[in-house]
Amino acid sequence: MALAPALALPPAVSAQVPALPATVATAAHLTEVHQRLDTRAADHARDVALTLDACSGAVDQGLLDTLVRLRIPATLFVTQRWLRRHPDTVAWLQARAAQFEIENHGARHVPAVVGRSLYGMSGPASVEGVTQEVRGGRDAIVQALGSTPRWYRGAGARYDSVSLKAIEGQGLRVAGFSVNVDDGASLPAPRVAARLHRVQPGDILLAHLNHPSAGTGAGLAQALPELQRQGLRFVRLSDAAGVITLP
Ligand SMILES: [Zn+2]
Repeated sequence: MALAPALALPPAVSAQVPALPATVATAAHLTEVHQRLDTRAADHARDVALTLDACSGAVDQGLLDTLVRLRIPATLFVTQRWLRRHPDTVAWLQARAAQFEIENHGARHVPAVVGRSLYGMSGPASVEGVTQEVRGGRDAIVQALGSTPRWYRGAGARYDSVSLKAIEGQGLRVAGFSVNVDDGASLPAPRVAARLHRVQPGDILLAHLNHPSAGTGAGLAQALPELQRQGLRFVRLSDAAGVITLP
């Protein structure tokens, strides 16, 4: 099924496409949504988006401080569970709303795969469970931060078709990515940095905000200044010219 209106890309843009070639339907009929930013306009030609998932667990404050120091905006995907656990961080983020936009990563980090599991996480028994997960995440953000999310990224970032329909039926767009920066916060800093050194204009980066002991924060701190020196311009998803779902 179509996730969102896929833009017809001119050949020049198609030729730039990328490390992750396309949105992938896996063997188990799950979809991993791959997207890039629209870089066709001159003033968006160097855009890159950093997205950070806060699934549950802790806060990588060192990573957030790095982004503040480098003035790099980001789009954070947070769960209800994470928001409730970290009221001080919620207040910190509220004071920096122009730099960090907050989007929906669900209520309890339940993957959008009905009747099966994903990376060891059990999906709900029915699609109503997906709807509850999406609604719970949205309501938590509205309540804690006063903003209404427009994007949804499910736990594990893969989806079955009935769940995709349920998410879109709530007026949310599924947020994909083009560069998996930290493999679920499992990579050491040098490997995180190595993946970042391959970033191109238009990439949407996926990393994690909830594992301060992982290599994610140090890898980003090492590589982000170099990307800035290359003239890449970090934007929040809402500040991009558009987000294109790859076919
Ligand atoms: Zn997650």
